[in-house]
Amino acid sequence: MTQNRYIDTRGLCDAPVPFTEAVVNGLAEGGGLYVPESVPHFTLDEIVSMAELPYAQRAARIYRAFDIDLDAETIEELMAQTYGENFDDEDICPITSLDASTHMLELWHGPTSAFKDMALQCLPRFFSASAAALKDAGTIDNDFLILVATSGDTGKAALEGFKDQAGTNIAVMYPHGGVSDIQYKQMATQSGDNVMVWAVRGNFDDCQTGAKAVFGDGPFAESLMGERKIALSSANSINWGRLLPQIVYYVSSYAVLVGSGKVAAGQPIDVCVPTGNFGNILAAWYAKQIGTPIDMLLCASNENRVLADFINTGTYDISEREFVLTPSPSMDILVSSNLERQLFEMTGRSGEAIRSWMADLRDKRSFRIDEETFAKLRSDFAADSIDSAACFAAIKEVFEHHNYLLDPHTAVAYQAAQNLRGENPVLIASTAHWAKFGESVYRAIHGIAPGAALPEEAACLSGCELNELIAKETGLDYIPANLANLDETEIRFTDIIDSAPESIEQAIVKFLDQR
Ligand SMILES: *Cc1c(COP(=O)(O)O)cnc(C)c1O
Repeated sequence: MTQNRYIDTRGLCDAPVPFTEAVVNGLAEGGGLYVPESVPHFTLDEIVSMAELPYAQRAARIYRAFDIDLDAETIEELMAQTYGENFDDEDICPITSLDASTHMLELWHGPTSAFKDMALQCLPRFFSASAAALKDAGTIDNDFLILVATSGDTGKAALEGFKDQAGTNIAVMYPHGGVSDIQYKQMATQSGDNVMVWAVRGNFDDCQTGAKAVFGDGPFAESLMGERKIALSSANSINWGRLLPQIVYYVSSYAVLVGSGKVAAGQPIDVCVPTGNFGNILAAWYAKQIGTPIDMLLCASNENRVLADFINTGTYDISEREFVLTPSPSMDILVSSNLERQLFEMTGRSGEAIRSWMADLRDKRSFRIDEETFAKLRSDFAADSIDSAACFAAIKEVFEHHNYLLDPHTAVAYQAAQNLRGENPVLIASTAHWAKFGESVYRAIHGIAPGAALPEEAACLSGCELNELIAKETGLDYIPANLANLDETEIRFTDIIDSAPESIEQAIVKFLDQR
């Protein structure tokens, strides 16, 4: 067997591990991220001919090319479950073209209406299968508790992905009063036997700090393992099992664009991605390595513009950067974890370079890459940042000119693409259905400034009711069922806990006792 194994970006692991272990471990020993030893290559013909296959089979084909250590039959079966009836469109991620060269890749047709479903419908199934395979082989003998701190979207997508997956439990913490009405109801109504949701007194930072402290509590981990045979794990976007499904949709989209006659076979396209943790855009970069004719990767930032500044200057600097709350909260990030993988690749896989830059980031809150790496970065990436006013203006403009509604994250990408694009057709990653962010969309189409109060007739409505009003006013009345029915769905989870690690640990024990 010549399985593709996984090495780590800091060169600190003793030995490479197979896919299954990379998935259940999440983070590599020593704090680095896993990357595959080798990246497969597809010919243009192989890519284009994928248009004839259902999406699930395209995904299986790409997983198999990465030579993961699960058998072909298992991969096919898991992919058929992942990309099936749980998506509300047969194409899974259909492409809507605004004009001949502007194509919106709609990544929000999954069960929670955010692009995270593309990966979080997939990862939990492969996580569960990986854990089972490792148990069979005698490598592990435990189950898992996935602990997630969320500012909104990730929590719901993770709950929906891990619910009722064998060998796993999932607990999600969100800031009490700090998420939208829609996001709150999406999480508090979650179904499934192995799920738990807590509101945490404090903000998102308190949630995250609490979760990190629990992950770092050795004696607690030992007691969970000793008494219950349960290991803590996280489902965050540094897991290779979340990145791989994202590579799939960029390869697949190119096949679809050619298949539908919108792009000539071999014609290069640019891809524009609204970027937070750098996972989605990194996946597009890997798709390019695989052989997809992608020219430039356009990185769109909101007012938290650390990535745009980095790509434009070569210096990553958060020493004096204020964290700004914007209408695109899933891009409100200062430390972009997946950038580490990109830099590892661009230095010709130098663990030494990564170790020194990550040490600088920790100690000085900034690092500067060398000229050669910067030149490489610039040959693949361009970047811009879009402020909230420009984001709202883009929502209004696209509605008025194309009768199409963008969510605020996608609007940031749309505007960045307008600013950065050259001759190539552009594929824009559309990362959420507008009805997840109805308040901002309402403000944008009514010309109300970001953050300004809504007029009384809108302010008194629930999130669902406001979405109905927007649908009526715009005539764009498709609202996914999971968002439309929230006011009628029973609330299951009402616990409010403190963010101190002891409180979270107590809540974990209580949850596991009930299981
Ligand atoms: C998570 C998220 C993003 C950012 O994606 P990254 O992979 O973290 O760069 C953008 N838009 C939406 C709606 C998201 O949920």
